[in-house]
Amino acid sequence: MSAPLLVIQDLHAKVAGEDLEILNGVDLTVEHGQVHALMGPNGSGKSTLAKVIAGHPGYEVTKGEILLNGEALLDLEPDERSRAGVFLAFQYPAEVPGVSIANFLRTAMNARVGDEDEMDIFAFQERLTEKMELLKVDEGFASRYLNDGFSGGEKKRNEVLQMAVLEPALAVLDETDSGLDIDALKIVANGVNTLSSEDASLGVLLITHYQRILTYINADHVHVMIGGRIVESAGPELANKLEAKGYDWLHQAAATV
Ligand code: ADP
Ligand code: MG
Repeated sequence: MSAPLLVIQDLHAKVAGEDLEILNGVDLTVEHGQVHALMGPNGSGKSTLAKVIAGHPGYEVTKGEILLNGEALLDLEPDERSRAGVFLAFQYPAEVPGVSIANFLRTAMNARVGDEDEMDIFAFQERLTEKMELLKVDEGFASRYLNDGFSGGEKKRNEVLQMAVLEPALAVLDETDSGLDIDALKIVANGVNTLSSEDASLGVLLITHYQRILTYINADHVHVMIGGRIVESAGPELANKLEAKGYDWLHQAAATV
């Protein structure tokens, strides 16, 4: 039997160089092919978890483990984690006029492989075309400049296309602070649904405080993080309960553990 895709065990992490503990014992297992939603109030540590998985240098793991396909992820540099199959949707606050999406995607792809394995332009174009067809992205999109005047939806289209081209084993999508409108939300949802039905072993950790996105994405499991740990895990019905009841009832549960 193969190892689970992602195992997080008793993970503690703090801000690097400071005494500020943010993650207080996170446990989470994502099997191949599963979509997990991670929800929780602002400031509960969700984005920190995403960054720690990706190897952000601003955080220090003080205890616990992260295994990807049974291998210790914490021993790897961020670029090695990416090569091992971890995709973290980057946020692009900056617009980059003069860099086309196609160019950017090719650079991102080649950054993951060694020089000798660089994908030539023809093979890359082929893959890009294939993914654009799969995701029903307009032909002209790839020649536009990165984020230059992009709407929220277009930024998401770019993010999903990037994920498709990189073909990760585990995609971590942090949707919390992006002020998603309904179109952008549907783009992310359709992208995740399309890519996970195309690749039956893809694992997704979708971080969101919008219960609404879960009406478009079929999450297998929903978790709530409060105070740097997961205090509740259940099926998709948990998202509806959170919609109806908020997080207060869980704050009480969190205080008693
Ligand atoms: P969430 O994504 O759930 O809203 P975050 O992971 O962004 O939460 O943040 C969790 C808590 O840790 C917040 O109180 C935040 O202010 C704090 N925090 C995160 N990163 C840092 C940092 N680099 N320096 C100081 N505090 C931080
Ligand atoms: Mg966040």
